[in-house]
Amino acid sequence: MAMSGGVDSSVAAAILKEQGCEVIGVTMQVWPTDQSEASAEPSGGCCGTGAIADARRIAQQLGIPHYVINFREIFTQKVIDDFCREYALGRTPNPCIRCNRCIESISDKKLVCTVNPYIGKGETSSPQKTAKPKKILVVGSGPAGLSAAQLLASRGHNVTLWEKEAQPGGSFRYAAMAPRKEPMGKYLEYLINQVKKANVRMQFNTEATEQSIKQFGADAVVLAHGANNVLLDLKSVEGNVAIGVKTAFTTADSLGDNVAIVGGGPEGCELADFLASKGKKITLIEMRRVLGLELVAHPRYHLGERLKKKGAQLYINTKVTEIGRNHLVISRRREADQRLDGFDNFIIPTLHHPNGALAAAIQPFVPEVHNIGDSVEGRTALEAVANGVEIGGKL
Ligand SMILES: Cc1cc2nc3c(=O)[nH]c(=O)nc-3n(C[C@H](O)[C@H](O)[C@H](O)COP(=O)(O)OP(=O)(O)OC[C@H]3O[C@@H](n4cnc5c(N)ncnc54)[C@H](O)[C@@H]3O)c2cc1C
Ligand code: SF4
Repeated sequence: MAMSGGVDSSVAAAILKEQGCEVIGVTMQVWPTDQSEASAEPSGGCCGTGAIADARRIAQQLGIPHYVINFREIFTQKVIDDFCREYALGRTPNPCIRCNRCIESISDKKLVCTVNPYIGKGETSSPQKTAKPKKILVVGSGPAGLSAAQLLASRGHNVTLWEKEAQPGGSFRYAAMAPRKEPMGKYLEYLINQVKKANVRMQFNTEATEQSIKQFGADAVVLAHGANNVLLDLKSVEGNVAIGVKTAFTTADSLGDNVAIVGGGPEGCELADFLASKGKKITLIEMRRVLGLELVAHPRYHLGERLKKKGAQLYINTKVTEIGRNHLVISRRREADQRLDGFDNFIIPTLHHPNGALAAAIQPFVPEVHNIGDSVEGRTALEAVANGVEIGGKL
């Protein structure tokens, strides 16, 4: 029982003991001793030495063992230092991935969290061991595949994960590359470590095909292989080579100085921010009336401000009708078409379609096939992780 010295955990420990459970109390020690908080508050305040003494006293009264675990160093690094750094930079410190989806969800009266798929569901994250261990193949190491593989293996299944790329992370790797999205990279690292700890056999440079899945012979296959990504078909002339957003993230240093990004959805806006921070001159064109429409309002506002500060040329309510070797043509209602020249590279939007063909192909010979994450519908990591955990708890 994690005991804070407060009423809730003390009563919970007492009830568990009364019900005949073997209860062991643990309390985290988080505040550095050299801080003046102990002298500022004689009892050390919440989580201070006073709280530890309270927890120990209650454990003694209940007749249960009590241990204090020293988390001072990690708490200083991950929480206190991060808080001070972020505060000094004028940002709201928050030890999460700062995606703000929870804030958005409050108005829907249905609380969600990207990194905690159990929130608001009345469930816990403790996995129930399976009575029937199966040989399970998970395809894809994005947030959906990682979450599913980790939970399935923790529950006692024999899990292999195939990833066609040389490294794990899926599309979320790109999400983590944009400025101010570093916490997403840390979350991805966390997911990957959890999968390693759960003893999932991870195989990279391994593409799942109908044939290879047949040879593998799984009891169940979880397809978390992401969306079917198709570049938007724009009229192009003079053989220009337009590339997609993901390619632009990974080849940024080889792009020219003057870059046009067609499509100011979240991915296009974040790519613009990323390339502008590398000194590129950015022109961003969006056909809708708002840039980054699907982003949560607060980060969307700041992203727009950053782009303006970095000198990006921003167009809204504007369609691109032609892309040439170094120019593009834009069209706006009630205005004559305009030609913009001098570009070195063009980035065009990627459409995310459902990816169901592999499932249909393997269904005749695999007893159980499940599609999860973006392979069902292109959405966000929140849905991908939630899907992964759902299937991970079900099989
Ligand atoms: C630039 C960008 C920014 C984004 N920003 C955010 C954000 O801020 N917040 C957010 O929540 N979401 C964001 N997303 C979306 C998010 O990354 C995706 O919704 C999420 O990664 C989907 O997870 P997934 O596991 O379903 O699929 P993916 O992450 O796409 O992973 C699929 C994996 O399967 C592998 N694969 C495909 N086919 C095979 C095969 N046949 N065999 C083996 N492996 C295969 C792929 O290589 C890939 O690694 C962003 C996406 C991009 C591109
Ligand atoms: S939804 Fe995002 S911002 Fe909110 S607590 Fe979860 S990770 Fe943090």
